[in-house]
Amino acid sequence: SAQIIDGKSISNAIREEIKRETADLLEKGIRPGLAVVLVGEDPASQVYVRNKAKACEDLGFYSEVHRLPADTSQADLLALIARLNGEAEINGILVQLPLPKHIEEKAVIDAISVDKDVDGFHPVSVGNLMIGDDSLLPCTPAGVIELLKRSGVSPAGKRAVVIGRSNIVGKPVSMLLLRENATVTIAHSRTPNLPAVAREADIVIAAVGVPKLVKRDWVKPGAAVIDVGINRQEDGKLCGDVDYEDVLPVAGWITPVPGGVGPMTITMLMQNTLKAAKRAHGVG
Ligand code: NAD
Repeated sequence: SAQIIDGKSISNAIREEIKRETADLLEKGIRPGLAVVLVGEDPASQVYVRNKAKACEDLGFYSEVHRLPADTSQADLLALIARLNGEAEINGILVQLPLPKHIEEKAVIDAISVDKDVDGFHPVSVGNLMIGDDSLLPCTPAGVIELLKRSGVSPAGKRAVVIGRSNIVGKPVSMLLLRENATVTIAHSRTPNLPAVAREADIVIAAVGVPKLVKRDWVKPGAAVIDVGINRQEDGKLCGDVDYEDVLPVAGWITPVPGGVGPMTITMLMQNTLKAAKRAHGVG
């Protein structure tokens, strides 16, 4: 039976490291600061934003949450971002997505200073990741890599199959695995014989958004299976893109949902904010 990768405990360990580093920075008079911007009242987004502010508080970061009405104009939102770009106490700017339909997401992401792009979605951050230059990494993909490494699964020399090619997860996690010297296949909705492709992998990353898509016969015995999916089932419970119970006996490592990749995302956001603060002050 697979070793279960405990995302909560790995995430807590990283937060302890961040907390210690933050304490050292505070002694130098540096306080990492995150601005979170929420437009509208999407209930899931409200929870995410609250959790991000809470994580900042726990670590000793400065944080501010800007809650704007759903009918905020794109111009007003861009003006807020321009102001935050210029504020010294703010090291990271996170605009909670999705945005209301009348606002163009791309225009908003492009407006965030690359130095404060803690979500890692700015085209320059994406380009730096692709080239291999230092940059702030997108949080969920960075969390996937941390989970692998801290579980003793080194991607170097391994065959990795990423299922999903979104800009938020599939593509960037593929680039990170490539950077870690894995041999990477990016599979998606138009990939023929997907189970056979997945079965070649030593590392399977499922980032699809289809509940329990990945079954036992998709997984090579002993493979590491990382499940990024978060799907709400009819009974209200969450499940991943992997059929956990079915895959558990055959995999070498597996992440549960919830409690796997999920807890890592905010932790990586905190790590990015810390990194941005250190860079802004020329330390570390
Ligand atoms: P997305 O919908 O943008 O992309 C899904 C990808 O899966 C697409 O590239 C598509 O080609 C591929 N796909 C769809 N159906 C397929 C199929 N039947 N077979 C093979 N490929 C298929 O989604 P996303 O933003 O990448 O998110 C993926 C999942 O991860 C979702 O469940 C989302 O909720 C979850 N997610 C979790 C976190 C986290 O913090 N853990 C963060 C982001 C997304």
